Amino acid sequence: MDFPILGLMSDDACDQFLVDTLHPDGLCCPGCRRDDARSVHDRHRPPVFDYRCRHCGAVFNAYTGTPLQKTHRSPTQLVLILRGICQGTPTAQLARELGCDRKHLLTLRHRLQGLALQAAEHMGPVPGSTTEADEMFQNAGEKRHLPPGPR
Ligand SMILES: [Zn+2]
Repeated sequence: MDFPILGLMSDDACDQFLVDTLHPDGLCCPGCRRDDARSVHDRHRPPVFDYRCRHCGAVFNAYTGTPLQKTHRSPTQLVLILRGICQGTPTAQLARELGCDRKHLLTLRHRLQGLALQAAEHMGPVPGSTTEADEMFQNAGEKRHLPPGPR
């Protein structure tokens, strides 16, 4: 069963999750590594803004220099893809759920493997994650005494 989960999630919350995962010490300029003087340069793709560094003039966003650079997917899609990778969701199912092309998704998946691990280790549960429900099922199975089966 596939869920239309894309419409249920907030792009703002997912963007914040991605920024925190990509930049655990805070977003800084990829050129001069300073974080104290950037202004919004372009708002064409909210909530992902392009910034201009007032020290060195570099234009960048939270994805610049990361595995997410040059992806044109929404923050929600990216979080769901990372979640799918962490949970071992088959690419075909993920593509159906996101309504996107399986081949492109597979390429992206290979690129994002490392980041997905980073996200899982660094942030705990991904927004919208079903981890808790899965764990409940696992625990319930382990604690139950199995009825004697046919030998
Ligand atoms: Zn700079």
